[in-house]
Amino acid sequence: MSQILAIDEGCILNYVEIANKLFFIPGENDGRYPFSNSLFIDDAIKVLIDTGIGSKLAAELAKEKKIDLVLISHGHEDHIACNYFFEDAKICCHKLDAPPIRSVEKLKELYDLPPGIELEKSIDLYLRDFFGLKDSRVDLEFENRHVFDLGSIKLNVIHTPGHSAGHCCFSVPSERLVFLADIDLSTFGPWYGCIDSDVDQFIKSIENIKGLDFEIAISSHKSITYGRETIKEKLDAYLNKIFEREKKLIDFLSEERTVQEIVSQAFIYRKLPEPKEIYEHFEKVMIEKHLERLARKNLVRRTNRGFKLL
Ligand SMILES: [Zn+2]
Repeated sequence: MSQILAIDEGCILNYVEIANKLFFIPGENDGRYPFSNSLFIDDAIKVLIDTGIGSKLAAELAKEKKIDLVLISHGHEDHIACNYFFEDAKICCHKLDAPPIRSVEKLKELYDLPPGIELEKSIDLYLRDFFGLKDSRVDLEFENRHVFDLGSIKLNVIHTPGHSAGHCCFSVPSERLVFLADIDLSTFGPWYGCIDSDVDQFIKSIENIKGLDFEIAISSHKSITYGRETIKEKLDAYLNKIFEREKKLIDFLSEERTVQEIVSQAFIYRKLPEPKEIYEHFEKVMIEKHLERLARKNLVRRTNRGFKLL
């Protein structure tokens, strides 16, 4: 098991009651990557949403509560790392994200790192050693609008693709609560660096959530937001990050630029974190998705060297 995921010796399993039978469980490091936050529902059927809280906390939770269902928002490592602690629970996810949950190799394919170079080796080490990621069972594959009847609480699936193909939010209409997962309201903004990520779908998904009425929103990496207007403002600011990035890209393309020249501007990351070569790859994937989007809208054209505004 990873040393890093068990690093925080002082981290205590904390159930924060946010509504009747609904408990927010902050992940280690306040749920910041490589961890994530969870929601625990203490109904007749006991549910845990996501297992990225950290191995110590997940082990404690598995001991304290008899979890019946583990619902996975999407198949990224920081949301599924501790699935294996919940041996007696049914593990459920959207059908499009079942493959990378079942197979670490599939997840690696979605990161699509160039083959045969150090990068590819390091993603393998990263997922298997750092995260301790293993192939996981998936017992139930759901789709949009699936309803889980947990006893007194009904939990709805809202398919929100974009970050990944099968990314889902979960709502509890009786409490006007939504678990936003990686529509995470971070100041970084939306992340779409995998091959199954899609900028247009991400925009639609955020708009879709914005159109629904919630009083409580839980983010996988940014805790809880209360109040309908505040939630909408944060969703707007989050969505606008996509357009801000695109505006910078459009301005830069007033002259012909190669993809590498664009990537070196780091419009998405601003400053590439370490390991730089991996984040440069994500920067490139996300920039290419913007270029495709702008080409579809007839705003940019491909040239011999790269791209230019039309
Ligand atoms: Zn994710």
